[in-house]
Amino acid sequence: MTDKGNVLITGTPGTGKTSLASILAEQTGYSHIEIGRFVKDHNLHDGWDADLECYILNEDKVCDFLEERMSKGGNIVDHHGCDFFPERWFDHVVVLQTENGILYNRLEQRGYKGRKLQENIECEIMHVIVEEARESYKEEILKVLKSDTVEDQDANVDVVLSLLGSSKAGNVN
Ligand code: ADP
Ligand code: MN
Repeated sequence: MTDKGNVLITGTPGTGKTSLASILAEQTGYSHIEIGRFVKDHNLHDGWDADLECYILNEDKVCDFLEERMSKGGNIVDHHGCDFFPERWFDHVVVLQTENGILYNRLEQRGYKGRKLQENIECEIMHVIVEEARESYKEEILKVLKSDTVEDQDANVDVVLSLLGSSKAGNVN
């Protein structure tokens, strides 16, 4: 059996990280690590940012907390940032991108408004996460994928499955 690596799925909030990671975890048996949830559940933060309505993530606490399970492999990490994780953790890094109008609707539906909505849309327009990923990881392990439609999501599932070497298409008897 081959060693299991770790995959990072990153992108602006609303691009579909958690949906994609859940499907992949179900299909591969990898663990889905949704950083936002871990931060909340395991107190890996420095309090609540009332302005942006989110926990103030403590990067050292997150990295310390995850080190052991990441060293074992078999994890799909899902987070809207990517520059503070140790580079060695990941074998594959996927950045999801969504067209601005579509993203706007998704975030609005999620209840985002005002500054929080604005800043996330700007983040996507300015390609902040793609740039961050390019600065943090080698080009060879980076995949930038469109996540506008359900068809895109299906295609993205296949891309990651084949990266993990478990694609059915690649294993025809
Ligand atoms: P993130 O984790 O990046 O914030 P989510 O996975 O929570 O994003 O997705 C945000 C919303 O958009 C959800 O309602 C989800 O069902 C929907 N969604 C995610 N990816 C797609 C896609 N590729 N096409 C259409 N809708 C999507
Ligand atoms: Mn999410």
